[in-house]
Amino acid sequence: MSNRTIELNDRLHQYLLDHSLRETELARRLREVTAQLPMARMQIGPEQGQFMALLVKLLQAQRILEIGTFTGYSALCMASALPDNGQLVCCDMSEEWTAIGKPFWEEAGVAERIDLQLGPAIETMDRLLTDTQKQPFDIIFIDADKTNYHPYYERGLQLLRTGGLLMFDNTLWGGSVADPQDQTPDTIALRELNNLLRDDPRVDISLVPIGDGLTLARKN
Ligand code: CA
Repeated sequence: MSNRTIELNDRLHQYLLDHSLRETELARRLREVTAQLPMARMQIGPEQGQFMALLVKLLQAQRILEIGTFTGYSALCMASALPDNGQLVCCDMSEEWTAIGKPFWEEAGVAERIDLQLGPAIETMDRLLTDTQKQPFDIIFIDADKTNYHPYYERGLQLLRTGGLLMFDNTLWGGSVADPQDQTPDTIALRELNNLLRDDPRVDISLVPIGDGLTLARKN
């Protein structure tokens, strides 16, 4: 027993899944299709998808922005947790990857809640910022190119309501953030973001060691 975060070996991780996962058969199929792709590790794990869906419900979110959709698994999880009139704006560069998710969004009956914006997310966020009809988002999930996390954060803060939640994926980056030998641009960007968030009075934070590290930041 310890008051330190527990380390999950394979057996304990399997126990966690066996005793808490409620993944739908449809979501599992999307994960299996995605697993065939060379970039499959970009997808979040099912326990993380379930955690994020729980947060959507806890915040009673109506509007969510996702930066980095890939094959649409996290979008499927979050959109399914939205009310019928909820909206999820998804930003991604890849028509090919997001096209994999679309039929699953359709089959889950959540496609009409999802507004997919293809193109650089910075441009989409800037467009959202200048939209005169704009309504603030309740949740923003950031899981795209790591070197742009800081600009995504600054724009995200402006697009979020007070009390809303930013979620940053991969903030532990396979452990590389704690390895001083690793000076690759992605690792440096994530380290800088983690330092920024730790000291930023604009948000309350928690770095949750689920998946590859998910930092929650509540806008004050
Ligand atoms: Ca990720």
